[in-house]
Amino acid sequence: MLGNLSCLHNSIFLSVRWIAVLYCFLAGWQLSAQTAIRSRHFIFYSTPQNLKAAEQGLHRLEELRAAIQALHGVQWVSTSPLRIWMPANEAAWKKFTATNAEQGIFVSGQGRDWVVVNPWSQNFLEVLSHEYIHAVLHRTLPNLPTWFEEGICEYYSNLLLRRKGARVEIVLGQLPERHRQILEGMLSIDIDQLAGKPMTIRSYAPAWAIAYHLWPGYKSGDSFPAKLSIGPFSPRTISIDYMAPELTQSLLSRREINELEIEFRNQFPSANQPVEAETAQAESVFLEGLRLSDLGQIMQAIPLLEKACLLRPSNSSWWNALALAYQENKQTSEARVAIEKAIATAKNETESAAAKSLQRSLF
Ligand SMILES: [Zn+2]
Repeated sequence: MLGNLSCLHNSIFLSVRWIAVLYCFLAGWQLSAQTAIRSRHFIFYSTPQNLKAAEQGLHRLEELRAAIQALHGVQWVSTSPLRIWMPANEAAWKKFTATNAEQGIFVSGQGRDWVVVNPWSQNFLEVLSHEYIHAVLHRTLPNLPTWFEEGICEYYSNLLLRRKGARVEIVLGQLPERHRQILEGMLSIDIDQLAGKPMTIRSYAPAWAIAYHLWPGYKSGDSFPAKLSIGPFSPRTISIDYMAPELTQSLLSRREINELEIEFRNQFPSANQPVEAETAQAESVFLEGLRLSDLGQIMQAIPLLEKACLLRPSNSSWWNALALAYQENKQTSEARVAIEKAIATAKNETESAAAKSLQRSLF
């Protein structure tokens, strides 16, 4: 029996109400997503409402590309245009991401690379820069350990260009505010431990610090120390021969946009299903699973809860419900995995506390 689900019920019914509101808001989302602009090396697809962000994004990417070329040489920049896709809203973005922590993704297709960014991201230009560096590293250093690659992407995400008369300076190594608190709470960085676990939202801060200390001195195949001291961190200024990029931008024609959309939907089949239908299906599957588990029919409930969590993997309270059902059915290791997902996908302190307290009570 799943005794203590009443608080879950509450949050579920709240979210049902929100989803109803979202339906109205999302009607016609596909019609509005139809603007694309190109600069010399990038194409940015978005909605007319996000045109300003697209222009700023292209500007930032062209400058970052020129800075990376000045720092590391022409072999570090690609000639084929990188495509950036900004979904019309957060619901559409969620089809691309398994956790709420993620703000952007990079996907390499056949000769074409894509970056998808969360339209509501707070640090949009840094997210874009981070994903661009993934695209660069994917071609230049494809065998980096994931945590080190993430650290390097973070390291360049806030690269600053400063004009000093005729010269240009690059400023790197400024500790991003989002990492400060995590690093201040650490005594040292245990690289072995970081390398032995999957990345979580808390891994990015130590990964940034490792890149600060070891990059760009690292050469492919170098071994890593087991531990590193945390700091101190101070910004580094590098004077470069900077070739200012062309910053012209132009709108794509309707035909070019159609071709881009087809290419995108082939690359990301999950983007084809309308947001509304998918959300409604997951919701009804989950509620049926919950009803059966309340009736004590746990064996019938579990497959439904599993399916709901697969359809909407970013819902922490659903993973909580699945963990409880597994535990009820004596599937301890499955319960453990589900509760870890509940913790990883928690959107706020309340969800995080609920998942952690369930974890303590189960194990
Ligand atoms: Zn990344």
